Amino acid sequence: MGAAIVVHGGAGQIGEAGPEREARDRAARAAVERAAEAGWEVLRDGGAAIDAVEAAARVLEDDPELNAGFGSVLTRAGTVEVDAAIISDAVGLTPSARRRVGAVGAVPWLRHPTTIARRVLEAGEHVLLVGDGALAFAREHGITPDDPTTMVSPRARARYERERAARGAIPPAPADTVGAVAIDAHGTVAAATSTGGTSWKRPGRVGDSPIVGAGLDADAAAGAASATGHGESILRAGLSRTAIEMLRRGHPPDEAARAAVEELVARTGGEAGIILVDARGQIGAYTSTGRMPWAARTDGGLTSGVSPTPPEGRVRLARRDELSSLATAVAAQPLLQRYDTDAARLAASLASALDRGEPVLVATDGDGTPSGFAWYLSRGTLGPSAYLRLIALRPGFESQGAGAALLDEVERRAAAAGAPSLFLLVSHWNDGARRFYARRGYREVGALPAFVRADTDEILCYKKIR
Ligand code: ASP
Repeated sequence: MGAAIVVHGGAGQIGEAGPEREARDRAARAAVERAAEAGWEVLRDGGAAIDAVEAAARVLEDDPELNAGFGSVLTRAGTVEVDAAIISDAVGLTPSARRRVGAVGAVPWLRHPTTIARRVLEAGEHVLLVGDGALAFAREHGITPDDPTTMVSPRARARYERERAARGAIPPAPADTVGAVAIDAHGTVAAATSTGGTSWKRPGRVGDSPIVGAGLDADAAAGAASATGHGESILRAGLSRTAIEMLRRGHPPDEAARAAVEELVARTGGEAGIILVDARGQIGAYTSTGRMPWAARTDGGLTSGVSPTPPEGRVRLARRDELSSLATAVAAQPLLQRYDTDAARLAASLASALDRGEPVLVATDGDGTPSGFAWYLSRGTLGPSAYLRLIALRPGFESQGAGAALLDEVERRAAAAGAPSLFLLVSHWNDGARRFYARRGYREVGALPAFVRADTDEILCYKKIR
């Protein structure tokens, strides 16, 4: 059984392009990567899924930029009230031992509410404690509330001041909630979700995050889920349960994540995101909001992004003056590092491809940022034996968004050139890529010959074009 952990840093809006957004995206991505690694350390050493999700949640709760623990948004009364829950579901135990849940809601001034939720789970008496009762329970377990002056991050304070000035006229915006899902080597699955809730909420409001079936869920026969977004909509729709049921019916996690969120949007008009791991260790994530920092760690390595929902890609021919910046961005890809390709060499080979008249295609995302490119390895135009390498910038999303737009364009060009068939050399081969190319009508015809690269996972695919 392959262990895996996925974490998120909350569904939210992309925001306007510019240095501020870039800095925020960089910080969020670094935070989710740190959290995924913290959880992975537990799983790698044979530890339990529940310990992994708690470890990951604690890292995220400590981050001042994220809306959980330290950094939580403030209520209308200027206080911090956090919600959190943790769930674990094991295979092969008695029913009462296998499914364990602990949760807390509207607890004031706590930095690590996931750990209190964990204590509620361990105590086994109740599932959900709220408010002062939850605080009293925490005290009994040696955990005291944090000093309010140290719990409010500058970002949360600034947001509160803006909202106060607008007297609630700013619509409540869910963002930056945190969560983690994991499966361990024994097949036990776990999830944790932790939040300060929605900004400008009423004191006493409890959102979806601590509610099983809404903000999180886990079932060893299916997988684990952690949700984020507009809490009232997630509660109405039962988002995490919907996704888990889809996993149970055999949908792959990426499809289940998208379908469950789309169902929520259709039924409630709200917006949400979700991360999933299934009982085989496959992962999935989706958001309807455009942004949800995420990171995943398996023994195959770390992948992460600012959004699992890639913006629609556009494709055009590369310009000579952008080759070096493009190459710099792509050379950071682990794949290219494996091939010892540095940015300068890559830019040079793209330039000579242009000199030979070979097309180098660039895919850009919504705001025009180049996010992937494709170029032909063979000489001349596309023919029956043309080989193509596809590279997209965001690791893990080669087969979507910009990647899909690249493939459309390549096929269009192949058909226009009268190519009867198309060979693709697909880098970064994984389950997602396998499904994507199969759906697009490609047949696997073999791996790159070992004499080219012994440790390669590149696959050659074939499709009849005409
Ligand atoms: N779901 C959370 C809530 O409504 C907010 C969020 O995910 O950002 O409390």
